[in-house]
Amino acid sequence: MNVKHMFAAAKGASSSADYSGANAVKIGCVVTYKGTILAKGANHDRTHPVQDHYNRYRYKNVGNRYLPSKTHAEITALSKVRYLDIDFSQATVFIWRGLRDGSPAMARPCAACRAYIHSLGIKHIYYTTDSGYAHEVIEGDK
Ligand SMILES: [Zn+2]
Repeated sequence: MNVKHMFAAAKGASSSADYSGANAVKIGCVVTYKGTILAKGANHDRTHPVQDHYNRYRYKNVGNRYLPSKTHAEITALSKVRYLDIDFSQATVFIWRGLRDGSPAMARPCAACRAYIHSLGIKHIYYTTDSGYAHEVIEGDK
């Protein structure tokens, strides 16, 4: 698996982001399976029922009913593959976020996306950081 190639694809996916909130940050995500890209996604202003459901993990103290469930890149991409009959422990999620000058920035998934990723049985997450990228492994049964 070529990590640089996957991050380039995730960066490409971010170009379709239309989120207009905080700094209009653009985030791209790709889901790969055994080295092949299955789905791409970006963050969007439109809401998504899966995001709405999992946002409870982000806002434990205030609940999620009063906050708009703008769709994160991970939710966009994973929603395209969630019904596939595959071994999700063999799938990998790549998330890219960059600054305006193109340098990478921290894109660690939020609590909602992490919960969703875990619920699918995905164990490997790669995301950009301020200095490069990180590979995180989620242990434990889903
Ligand atoms: Zn998220």
